[in-house]
This record gives sequence, structure tokens and C-alpha cells, in this order.
Amino acid sequence: MADQVAALKAAGVPAAYLNSTLTPRQMDLALERAYQGAYKIIYVAPERLETASFLRFARSVKIALIAVDEAHCVSQWGQDFRPVYLRIADFVAQLPQRPVMGAFTATATQRVREDIIRHLQLVNPATITTGFDRPNLYFEVVRCTEGRNRDRALRDVLEGREDQSGIVYCATRKAVEEVCDRLNGAGFAAARYHAGLSDEERKQNQEDFQYDRVRVMVATNAFGMGIDKSNVRYVVHYNMPRSMEAYYQEAGRAGRDGEPSECILLYSGQDIFTARWMIENSPPNEALSAAEQANVRRLDMNRLNSMIDYCTRDGCLRTNILRYFGEKPGEDCGDCGFCTGGRYTDAGEAPIPTRRTTSVKPVKAPRKIDAPKDGLLEQLKAVRMALAKQQHLPPYIICNDATLASMARIRPQTKQGMLSVSGMGDVKTAKYGDAFLQVIKAYTVQEKRMRAQVAAIAREAQSAAHRQSASDRQSATDRQAATARGKPKAAAKPVIRYYEPPKSVPPAPQRPPLENDNADIADAYLSGMSIQQIADELERSPGEIRQRLMDMDLIF
Ligand SMILES: [Zn+2]
Repeated sequence: MADQVAALKAAGVPAAYLNSTLTPRQMDLALERAYQGAYKIIYVAPERLETASFLRFARSVKIALIAVDEAHCVSQWGQDFRPVYLRIADFVAQLPQRPVMGAFTATATQRVREDIIRHLQLVNPATITTGFDRPNLYFEVVRCTEGRNRDRALRDVLEGREDQSGIVYCATRKAVEEVCDRLNGAGFAAARYHAGLSDEERKQNQEDFQYDRVRVMVATNAFGMGIDKSNVRYVVHYNMPRSMEAYYQEAGRAGRDGEPSECILLYSGQDIFTARWMIENSPPNEALSAAEQANVRRLDMNRLNSMIDYCTRDGCLRTNILRYFGEKPGEDCGDCGFCTGGRYTDAGEAPIPTRRTTSVKPVKAPRKIDAPKDGLLEQLKAVRMALAKQQHLPPYIICNDATLASMARIRPQTKQGMLSVSGMGDVKTAKYGDAFLQVIKAYTVQEKRMRAQVAAIAREAQSAAHRQSASDRQSATDRQAATARGKPKAAAKPVIRYYEPPKSVPPAPQRPPLENDNADIADAYLSGMSIQQIADELERSPGEIRQRLMDMDLIF
């Protein structure tokens, strides 16, 4: 909730949330402001709907719309059933006027959809299914043995992604601890998250992840609800989850900004055994009759079987997912681990060849997702980080990776132009536009100068080569003339040449010595000298030069 409210505020929509993380004093304040009409949107946990103070508020104001998010929680068919969702309809019934109702979920089978309509008492709802496919997500399943083999598969995924955010889901707290330790030991900056940690540590670790202070979050499924970090580039499941619903929801936290991202599931025979055992031996739920409990267990087992099917059966993974959620996909996607033959080494139990590994499908070259090393994009990211620090917001709330990439491509030079960048609306352009524009302008100028300089060097090189070949011809003529005159050449002493520069390289262009003033430093920097070179030449510290360039808004 906090995240969504922050994102709305950043986009200029006044919003607030009411949940158990607020103190009673904060809660009173928020409600008071709500009475005054300060918010367009209020986020409320369903547990809070029927408290006297909220009900009093809700009955006294005109509510235009009630949106029920994660609406699948209302269904006992779903794995996230939360009985409190069943009382939402009661709350709505107590309002003097029934607002428009909407229900939203990312994972609902046909049965769950029917439950949502029935239990929320929606009246003649228009049902819109936008499709479950997330084309920017790449899916792969890697069969592993226990222990080191699984870790190797994990590291294959993480390698070379030091500057990308990712989540590693583990089945147990113990696994979270161990994997997190091993990753840190191997030099990956990872944080941990599970229900056994203190509130303080959980909050701190979550924030470190959101603010890109650590890139890898190792967590149980307790992590992720309500976190809307858009630049998660990969989600690895270190263990097999127990249902497709859980898997798709967790894996779906990758790539919310629409940029290519990966969902890699590691599993072993042991995972299947453990999951079965846990369902068969789950503690009895006092609230249910024996028959109901048997039914719950049967449903759990069915869901597990679909998950096992996803891991072990031949066929396009995306097609498998979409079918599970009731869609009728056409052809294979051509872009999942099955269709491409996989990006990550099958760390499989070697002696057991699975049909999956002997697939005869053409194998595409592995395609790791690397951000293009565009200098401008890197600089824009630095600006975003600076703004995020200044505003105390996670960087992706300032704007997401896709927006920055688009900005780097379009290179707007004015605020008007900035508005044409997807994700930069009026509010964001007004707030952050200038900061980005400064960098884009400086970069464009710098690039022009660099181009001009490269062209000048090329011209210089050409004429130097021309002069050189002319003088070569001249000395050959001289030698011939000397021989013709019959003067013997002096006996050549053996000469050891350690290094001979290739003839076509021109002498370094002569540059007047650098003056210790800002204009000269700016010019030197813009024409391609590094901070270190400038510092060396002026006999100053690189820190001082960096500061002066920062003062001139040339770097951030
Ligand atoms: Zn496929």
C-alpha cells in the first residue's frame, strides 16, 4: 500500500492508506484529512472496513468507486483464500448509497471468477479479461540436484547482473538464510526477508531493495505483496512453489515496467516429495469439518500436480501457463526455455536424461538481458538516483527503466518534448523534467563536440598519412640517387627496435596547456578528457575536479 500511495503521489494524485502499520494518531489524522476531501483514493485493508471509525467515515461521504484488489482472495477455490474478503459485501450493504464496484486480480481460474462475482455480490458485472500473457517475461525451468548443483544454477542466472534487481524465492526460512549467506559469500549483495525476522529488519531490508541499495532479495513468499517495484529484472524460484497461482503471481513481479525480464524456476525430485508430504501432513484446521478438510487437501494436491506438470512435462512453458488460467493459446511461444532449448545450463541429475534436454528444437543463442551501455542512459539513471535520495523515494517511483530508456532514445530538449516520453506526465515533467533535461542537453553538446573532434582527428590522420607516403617516395629517390653516385652506404649497425608506432597514426593534436579555470576545465571534460587526466594535468585532486564539474551541472 505504502508503495502504491507513493507512486500515486509522485504522479500527482493525492492518496492515503489506512492499515495496521499506522499509529492510532496517524490513523486519526488520515481520516480527518479524508473527511476534508483531501484524497482522491484511499487504500484500506479489508480488516479495517468494519471498524466503527471507518464505517462512520464511509457512511458520511460520497464514495464514487470501491475497487477490490487481489479479488481472488474471496474464493475458497483459490490458494489465497482470506475469509475477511467475504465480509466486503456486508460493508458495502451498510453504505447509504451503493457505489460502483470493481474487482481486480491477476490470477483467477474460471471457478475463482465465478466466486468473485457471487461473494462480492456484483450486480450484472461487465467482465474484462485482458489475457494472462506477459510477453516480456521469459520462462525457464531448470532441473537440479540438491545443494551445490542448485546454487550453481542460481549463480548462472545472477552472473553479470550486478546492476539489476532480482528476487530469489525459497520455500523455507532456513533456505532463505543459507542462500542469502552463500550469495553474500560469493560477492553478490543480497538481503533476506521472511516472517521470522524482526519488523525492523524486514522493513530495512525491503527498503534497501526498493531503493536499489541491494540488488538481490532472498525471501520466502512473505515478500512481495503490495510491493510494486517495477524494475525487477528476474525472479528465481530456488524451490518449486506449490501451485501455479502462487508461481505466476510471484514470477509476475518481474518486468512490471514491460522491459524484458526472466522467470527461472529451479526444482528437484526432492521439492516434489517435500511438497506432497507437507500437504498430506498439514495440521488440521479446527474451523473445518473433516469432509471440508479432505476437500481442501484434495484441491491442494490438484494444484500441486499442475505445478509438477509445469516443471516436468514437455511443451511450451508459456502455453502451459496460459492453458492453466483458461486461455486457449495458439502456437508455441518460441521464446521460453522449452522453445529455445534454455539459456541456463541444465544442471540436471546427469545420468537421467529427460526428454526436455534431448529436445531437437533449434537452440537459439543464449540471450542475457543487458542494458545497452549507453552513456546517456547511465547518466539519466544517476540523475534519477539523486532525485530519489533527495525526495526519499525509491528510484523506480521517480520513473521506471522503460521511461528512462525512452528518454535516452528520444532525447527531448524542452519540457514540451519531455511530455512525449511515455511515463512523464505533467506532474513528473514539472517536478523532475529540468533535472533530466540538463543532462540530456549537456550530453548532446558533449556528443557533438566529440563527433567534431573525431572528424578532425580523422582528417589530420589522412593528411599525415599523405605527407608520410610523399616523404617515403622522396627518400627512396634520394637513396637511388646516392647509389647512382657510387657512394657506399655506411655499414648499418644492428639496431634493436623496441617499438615502432604504426606510420598512419598522427601525432597527438597539440593542445595548449590547461588553465586552472572553470571554462577550461569544462571544455576539457566535454572534449573527452577524463577527470583523472584533468586532475593530473592541473595537479589537483580528482575530487576537486569532480566537485567543480558538479557545480557547473556537467556531472551529477
Ligand atoms: Zn514457449
